[in-house]
Order: sequence, then C-alpha cells, then structure tokens
Amino acid sequence: MTDATPRPAAALDRWEAVIGIEVHCQVRTASKMFCACAVPHPDAAPNTHTCPVCLGLPGTLPTINRRAVEHVLATGAAIGASAPATTRWDRKNYFYPDLPKGYQISQYDLPLAAHGSLTFDTSAGPVTIGIRRAHLEEDTAKLVHAAGPDGERLSLVDFNRSSVPLMEIVTEPDVRTAEQARRYAEELRLLLRAIDVSDAEMENGQMRVEANVSLRLRGTEPFGTRTEVKNMNSFRAVERAVAHEIERQAAALDTGETLRQETRGWDDVKGATYVMRVKEDSADYRYFPEPDLPPLHLDAAWLAR
Ligand code: ADP
Ligand code: MG
Ligand code: ZN
Repeated sequence: MTDATPRPAAALDRWEAVIGIEVHCQVRTASKMFCACAVPHPDAAPNTHTCPVCLGLPGTLPTINRRAVEHVLATGAAIGASAPATTRWDRKNYFYPDLPKGYQISQYDLPLAAHGSLTFDTSAGPVTIGIRRAHLEEDTAKLVHAAGPDGERLSLVDFNRSSVPLMEIVTEPDVRTAEQARRYAEELRLLLRAIDVSDAEMENGQMRVEANVSLRLRGTEPFGTRTEVKNMNSFRAVERAVAHEIERQAAALDTGETLRQETRGWDDVKGATYVMRVKEDSADYRYFPEPDLPPLHLDAAWLAR
C-alpha cells in the first residue's frame, strides 16, 4: 500500500463513506464570460485584462459568451445529461474583496445540463457516478497576500480572472471510496480534454476539485454530517485528502464527537485537512434571477449541432 491509500483503521469497518464531488473548470474561450476582455494566460501581469464590466463598475451590463454556453451543452451531451428548453442566470450574493459586484452571476435552478453520469474502471471494477448538474458561472478575481516595503501585510486584488467562464459539475453523493474520487476526477478531465472544452490543468487552477465527505453506519440509509474539502492540487491529493478525511471523521465519530458542517482545506505537506470556515447554506446567498440578462432559449437545432 502507498500512503495514498492509508491502511483503514478497524473503525472503518463500521462506517461507509458517502462522497459527492464538485468540479470547477475553466472552459476554453477567447473572451471572458460576460465582457469582451481576452481570457488572460495565468502568468499575465496583474490587472492587464480588465474592463468596466469585469471590474463590476456601476452602470455596466453583461453580455453572454455563446462559446462558453456551447461548451457546457457539449459536456452535458457527453455525460448523457439533458438541457432545459429555457435556462436563465441567477445572482449569488455575497461580500468578498475578490467579488466587486457583491454577487456572482451563476445558474441556480435551471442549469444548462442535468441528470448525467460517468462510468469508469477502478481496481474493484467499473463504477457509475450520477452527475446532478453542470452549470455556467463567472470566476472571481484573485487575492494576493503579500508583504509591503516595511514588512506590513498587504492584500492585493488581481482582476484578470474576474468573470473568466467557469463550468461547475456536481455529482450525486454516489462516490464511496477515495480511489473512486480520484478516478472520477481523472476520467472527467480526460472527457473534458477529449471534447475540447477545457485544458483542465489542476496545477494552475483551471480544474478545481472539491469533495463533500460524510460517513454513515454500514447498512443504514441516512447521511451523516458532511464536510467540504478544498485545495487539492493534483489527482493524488484528491485521493489522499478524501482518505484522510474519512479516517478523521471515523475517529471523531467513534469517540462520540458530533461533526460540524464545515469547509476544510487540504495541507499536502502535513497530509491532513484543517478547518477553513463553518459552511454557509444556499439560503445565505439569497439567489434571485439576474435582471440584466434575458432567459436563454435553447432551440433544438442549436442543441443538435
Ligand atoms: P452546496 O451547494 O452547499 O455545495 P449541494 O447540495 O449542492 O450543496 O451538494 C454539493 C455536493 O455534496 C454534491 O456533490 C452532493 O452530492 C454532495 N452531498 C450532499 N450531501 C452529502 C452528504 N451528506 N455527504 C456527502 N456528500 C453530500
Ligand atoms: Mg458546495
Ligand atoms: Zn472585462
């Protein structure tokens, strides 16, 4: 056994892992999601690819990038998902310095693709994972934490990434092992590359994988409290992080602890997850339909193409 598949503690015989995976991936387009700025190379100098729209200045209006929509529709077709006759955009409201408008334009209840699946091999045989949805949204800007000339701590904002098109792909809670989680991410990347939708490089953040992990007593139905694990920068990290989180939760539950629904980060050097924040609920985002964009009608001819 390698350290990517830690030896299960005896306690793990009692618990079954329930895992759902969320992948954000940058879809390949020349321009950004809602403006005419070029999508910058990750190494571009900060704030060289911005305009009033992706800086979130008041009075600006977004326009929809057709190519980005087509990439999500193509992904939906490749995973056997269905597209709605009409979709729309929704505002996800929250405050953070990397989000100048105070909301992200996303899709809430009418995603571009729904009810798909992905089948792949694992060391224990083939597995099919249900895919709940794939939708389109805009990326946030990037915060850079640096030290100033006198050593004071500075936080800088780079708006190059603001409004770059992102597809979010969410599975059903069908994943059961750390290996399945890694294999799902690997197969999804192969698929995205094969249909030419994304380069999906994990190393530079074009593909970001998050795993929702909970445990339940084997042979029982109800799901336990989940944590969401982020900051995994390789497929190996996905497997190690999920394996670690399963063991951590099993150990906690075995000592009678109650878990909290929280967001945890993965520290690849320590080989452990750590608390980032207590999880927000979707109600906290006060989603509502984006008034600056019309609903999008997906006619059959466009879908067929
Ligand atoms: P959010 O929008 O808060 O991230 P969702 O309900 O959309 O929450 O679920 C996100 C992911 O978590 C999905 O992949 C889903 O399958 C998975 N999930 C939901 N409940 C659980 C649970 N109890 N344990 C593990 N994964 C879960
Ligand atoms: Mg989530
Ligand atoms: Zn712009």
